[in-house]
Amino acid sequence: MKERFTPGAFMNVRFTERSLAHTMGVLRMLSPARSLVLVDWNGTVMSDLGRAVGAINAATAPFGVRALDRAEFQDSFTLPMRTWLLDLGIAHEHVGRVEADWNSGMQAPAPLRSGVRETLATLRGQGIVTGVVTAANEAALRYDLRHHHLDGAFDHVHTSVRDKAARLTELRALGERAFYLGDTAYDIESARAAGYVAVGVSEGYQRPDVLAAAGADHHIDGFGDLLEILDLAPVPAA
Ligand SMILES: [Mg+2]
Repeated sequence: MKERFTPGAFMNVRFTERSLAHTMGVLRMLSPARSLVLVDWNGTVMSDLGRAVGAINAATAPFGVRALDRAEFQDSFTLPMRTWLLDLGIAHEHVGRVEADWNSGMQAPAPLRSGVRETLATLRGQGIVTGVVTAANEAALRYDLRHHHLDGAFDHVHTSVRDKAARLTELRALGERAFYLGDTAYDIESARAAGYVAVGVSEGYQRPDVLAAAGADHHIDGFGDLLEILDLAPVPAA
């Protein structure tokens, strides 16, 4: 918005740098840039690496695949899921069954990333549009939302998304400034391709250096760190 106004060019009024800054501040208050914050689910909102390790090991054990520890999980994880399962040694004909078992295994209690509930309340209190864009299926997402009493906490929910960049592009017009949070290189690349600020999170399914290499603009640990990136002061709890 700033570049549309130059000193002296607005209604023939000669602005000093100071009065221009003041006027721009007033204009911003009257009409703040609408922001959009969309998030991946597993590994991003959920701090669920432990659940994921358990789910994949339970799903692949019947096919003789050696159990992964957390580090091996992070080193091997890739998307799409099918590619990862083939990499782990699952035969083509068993991929569907393993993926279904993984989805069932992911319906188990797991913690939220720190600050999720408070940060969502702050964002929505500021009129920021929020949403989930995830490859996880609806049943798995509903399980977590219910478990953590987060039903209705997001303005938009998109599950079983097969092409994140395409879906994010469709949703891009919901905000002038747009942010996407994710824990995989796929999330980061999709966000950037769709014109979002790409924010990587720690302790997810892939390591921070992988997200940085994919082009993450920012990196956060707790969800509350997002407020600094959006330049918002946290709203104290009532
Ligand atoms: Mg994820």
